[in-house]
Amino acid sequence: MTDVVKQEAAAGKAAKKNRVADKKLLLEVNDLKVQFDIPSKSLWPWAKPSKLKAVDGVSIKLYEGETLGIVGESGCGKSTFARALIGLVPAVAGSVVWLGQDLTRLPYKEMREKRKEIQMIFQDPLASLNPRMTVGDIIAEPLRTFFPQLSKVEVKEQVKDMMTKVGLLPNVINRYPHEFSGGQCQRIGIARALILKPKMIICDEPVSALDVSIQAQVVNLLQSLQKELGLSLIFIAHDLSIVKHISDRVLVMYLGNVVEVGETKALFAEPKHPYTKALMSAVPIPDPILERQKKIEMLEGDLPSPLNPPSGCVFRTRCPVAKASCAETKPTLTGDEAHAVSCLLVA
Ligand code: SF4
Repeated sequence: MTDVVKQEAAAGKAAKKNRVADKKLLLEVNDLKVQFDIPSKSLWPWAKPSKLKAVDGVSIKLYEGETLGIVGESGCGKSTFARALIGLVPAVAGSVVWLGQDLTRLPYKEMREKRKEIQMIFQDPLASLNPRMTVGDIIAEPLRTFFPQLSKVEVKEQVKDMMTKVGLLPNVINRYPHEFSGGQCQRIGIARALILKPKMIICDEPVSALDVSIQAQVVNLLQSLQKELGLSLIFIAHDLSIVKHISDRVLVMYLGNVVEVGETKALFAEPKHPYTKALMSAVPIPDPILERQKKIEMLEGDLPSPLNPPSGCVFRTRCPVAKASCAETKPTLTGDEAHAVSCLLVA
């Protein structure tokens, strides 16, 4: 490497460090663990329940205005992790520090207040809306709960404003969810999540149940609202193309563990973990010639049970480059904020 190239690389690293230092840290999750007790099938009445490790020590940081994408197979713990962030499922260990306060230790009343700042959008748009309530009532419900002092007229005004913001006509305020398409129902869910002006939204597979054209509309809507309102997003999805499009950083999960995390560009350009490589190789390329030449790295077998995870590296039973030592030592995330990997073979 010439001196000029070295200097440019050093300047680039310094600029990146400054950009990170400039940003305000909203959320810091440290070693979060979620476990469920599964009753034993034994007839012995004192048999102990088994522990299902749904999330096994996940740490993340989220900055103001940033989007963190979370990917991984079904059953890898993405949604459980997201729910644990806002206390919908209890964490058995670790901390969720939101603007300097650990949410896992907050009393119920204070945690309820914090929910104004963190909202969630769910996967199935129709199932997440109460079929007996009108659209207006669904969107207004959080306002009435947290701001009971608002008059009916003020609530209606705010609801109509929000409906316009998310691309719904205010004159459908008295209709019921079943009268809307999947995309429109997701817009109602977004309006309900945004009505309290939160700082962060957790999007739990918000477009998985929608048609491709509608997916693009909803993703574009989320991006424009993020820009307008300065929101931070945690975006969970199966579709890596969408995650690549919307995320600033991406976190890859496998069996409740983080196997790789990094800035979207770096991670997609040079995935380092064998699991991430397999996921990336399955992403379609919009060029028929390249797509035909592409080698897909197939993973053998199914995701192991989180009731009985493999010893050492949790990915070793499906890893194409596993060594004997992978069964003995559990790898930890190594690297920096720009790109970190959890694999014994990656220095
Ligand atoms: S630690 Fe071993 S088993 Fe795990 S991903 Fe790396 S090479 Fe594969």
